[in-house]
Amino acid sequence: MEKRKEWSVRLWISVSLSVLLGSLALGNPYADVDWARWQQHRANLHTHTTLSDGQLVPAEAIDRYRELGYTVLALTDHDTVGPKANREDPKRAETTWPWQRFDRDPAELGMVAIEGNEISKVHHTGSYFTGYGNPEAESPEQVIEEIGQRGGLAVMCHPGRYDYSAEWYAGLFSRFTHLVGLEVCNRTDRYPGDIGLWDEVLQISMPDRPVWGFANDDMHRGEDVGRSWEVLLLPEHTAERVREAMTTGRFYFSTVYEAGRPAPTIKSIRVDEKAGTITIEAENCQRIYWISCGRIVYSGPTFDAKHARRPERYVRAQLRGEYGYTFTQPFRLPIRQTTTDRATEDESKAAKEPSAPPSAAPEAQPPVPRPDTGQAGPNAA
Ligand SMILES: [Zn+2]
Ligand SMILES: [Zn+2]
Repeated sequence: MEKRKEWSVRLWISVSLSVLLGSLALGNPYADVDWARWQQHRANLHTHTTLSDGQLVPAEAIDRYRELGYTVLALTDHDTVGPKANREDPKRAETTWPWQRFDRDPAELGMVAIEGNEISKVHHTGSYFTGYGNPEAESPEQVIEEIGQRGGLAVMCHPGRYDYSAEWYAGLFSRFTHLVGLEVCNRTDRYPGDIGLWDEVLQISMPDRPVWGFANDDMHRGEDVGRSWEVLLLPEHTAERVREAMTTGRFYFSTVYEAGRPAPTIKSIRVDEKAGTITIEAENCQRIYWISCGRIVYSGPTFDAKHARRPERYVRAQLRGEYGYTFTQPFRLPIRQTTTDRATEDESKAAKEPSAPPSAAPEAQPPVPRPDTGQAGPNAA
């Protein structure tokens, strides 16, 4: 009886503490990552070769990435101009796959190869872990559905190139679980609207449905190699674990102004639920910004929810380095947050950089693709 009382007192204290601290419940996509033991694997998941409109043959593309230290690579030729449509390829496979066809063995190279394709007839969509290609699908929804029917994962490529609204994207994410994210860095910020759109989508979908950000070279020429990449956090270097990381958001991503330059590297991320803090330990990093709903709400290595400038729904970190930025995935926050007015003191200090665009007004009109993106031609990226 005495013991029971003691427990109930303890429970009461802990509940009261969490109420006092605002019951922050920070959703952490990296919660299961063992930063000391797991390996960090650099990946490019958007690569074109001569089998579509790229300039390097598949073997050269693989070698270029291997030389730069990449250990995960997806060759994603456009379906509409890809292997099946390429009359010079007698096999006419629907994906640039397997690598052995191009005299490259991923195991020998110490790489994990991911089968993929960029479905390009309508909204360009990254298709992974399936041989899907050459779709007759007439709408982005149908493409995503067909990728799912084949057991694949989908990523919406360079959304900043289109005029679809954030609501439209959020609708897709609530409908399709195998649609894992948005490609928010394409080469070096080739479509500047991508990151702002990601924040707009997160503002709608979080805290319920996280949308992971991806960064890729969309490589067509040798000089595109090493501009934007993911760093996957893997307990084992296998395709299955890559799939798991892409699904759960256990990766961060970087983009640099000049191909081949380094970006900030994350050594660990620690979340203290009770204190409402997230601490990032990083290398090659000049400053860390915390962004919520498209605004910078805090800066410094430790985000403190109670003293931040009214964060809600989610917060993500953006690390500035000498040559570019590294981004974390979004951490879940409650929709309504109790914050003190102390935070407003920081408002004047809130820097205008980095590229955290102000949230745009929601678009009311239905999505209309731009005329130049309705068709994928040889120059389509
Ligand atoms: Zn594309
Ligand atoms: Zn592409």
